[in-house]
Amino acid sequence: MALSYAIPTVFFIVGAMRLKSPKTARTGMWWIAMGMIVGVGGTVLLHPDIPWGLTIAVMAIGSGLGVFIAKRVKMTAMPQMVAVFNGMGGGGAALVALDSLGHFRSLGAFAALIATITLVIGSISFSGSSIAFLKLQEWLHGPRLSRTVQATMTGLGLLLLLSLVSLRIANQPVPGLAIWIMIAAVFEGVMLVIPIGGADMPVVISMLNALTGLAAAATGFLISNNVLIVAGALVGASGTILTQQMSRAMNRSLRHILFSSLAQSGTGTPGHGDLDGTMIEASHEDVAMLLTYSRNIIVVPGFGLAASRAQQEVRQLMEKLAGHQVGVKFAIHPVAGRMPGHMNVLLAEANIPYDRLFEMDAINQEFKDADVALVIGANDVTNPAAKTEPNSPLFGMPVLNVDQAKKVIVLKRGKNPGFSGVDNPLYTRSHTSMLFGDAKDSLGKLIQAIE
Ligand code: NAP
Repeated sequence: MALSYAIPTVFFIVGAMRLKSPKTARTGMWWIAMGMIVGVGGTVLLHPDIPWGLTIAVMAIGSGLGVFIAKRVKMTAMPQMVAVFNGMGGGGAALVALDSLGHFRSLGAFAALIATITLVIGSISFSGSSIAFLKLQEWLHGPRLSRTVQATMTGLGLLLLLSLVSLRIANQPVPGLAIWIMIAAVFEGVMLVIPIGGADMPVVISMLNALTGLAAAATGFLISNNVLIVAGALVGASGTILTQQMSRAMNRSLRHILFSSLAQSGTGTPGHGDLDGTMIEASHEDVAMLLTYSRNIIVVPGFGLAASRAQQEVRQLMEKLAGHQVGVKFAIHPVAGRMPGHMNVLLAEANIPYDRLFEMDAINQEFKDADVALVIGANDVTNPAAKTEPNSPLFGMPVLNVDQAKKVIVLKRGKNPGFSGVDNPLYTRSHTSMLFGDAKDSLGKLIQAIE
């Protein structure tokens, strides 16, 4: 019995440690999957009351769906997939808690408390993750509710949820109480996540991830399953650390992210590419000439690079420039792209050496000495308004000092804003030139021009 729980625990920990580097992350996932198989197998073997046929059928359907979705999903849509899977974890935990509370009289006071907490956290995680999915998929852009309506509804929802939970703890015989708690928590999850957007979204996703981990661990207590406790605790702890690190990288507290968005709802300044000033357009030949005559260039990759799958072209450009004795470094912003580490994974895939990649804090001082900052499909992470415009939704988020480079070249398709929907004044500065077009296509033409 103990062994069937100890082995998966070791596998999970080894797997999680291997996730630290892109080189070992792939095998890390295998360790974790193996741990899960041993854990589930051990649980089924040790509990003869669990129906074998049903367990295998459910696992086959779930695993089949998981493989199907994971194989089809694009790298750029990974956060949506994480949000969906996360929501399912939260929803699953909430359903187990709901079932346990259905026969709460035999549960005991402590178990009933744990079940109630699991129901609340799991339901918030389910609905919050579902809203995060819809927003990341750009199917939902947030309701046009005024700040007061939004804040009042969230406050009343919280009050209702706390009252229902108090009734549950006081053991009051209210018909369908657990279902009402679930509905109130689902509502609260929606209200909390719906006003959040832009640069704060990655932090919210990792926070929901941490909540799901906690809900799973609590479910483990409910159904006396140590593997679930360990797996949930690992997800909860790593999600919490990631949330802290991302909040720090964005220079925002979690409280600010969750509640200041209420204050800003409906008052954002969406970008439409109609910035004051004009953008200067450059030709491929001009940019190729500028790059080959530079001594040091800092490349700033962003979501557009991933969307156009141009990482191989970036490596080729780096090699061509090396032939002209041009030094190329890459500046990686902590939330560039659509998931933590997105740019590192992308550039590693194209065999760009790790020692060329620099975290924001390590390279930000070097922009002022760079001949060219070559921005490839990045937008929000370069927006100088984050440093200077207190009214900007991005204000306070540390950004790359691209504007300090002697010359800035921006590769993007048109005048669309980035994920946060905010215009970028960098594009109309006198030392910035725009090279419009798909990043892969533009880089291909630049390489040709250099040749
Ligand atoms: P961004 O602000 O989303 O900007 C990407 C830019 O790429 C867009 O302005 C777009 O302009 C351009 N683009 C899109 N497709 C392109 C293509 N095929 N070729 C060339 N350009 C293309 O990206 P970012 O600077 O990387 O910033 C990331 C944003 O996502 C942040 O706001 C961050 O908070 C958010 N976010 C991050 C994570 C995470 O964990 N990293 C998760 C969720 C959200 P055009 O359409 O005009 O081409």
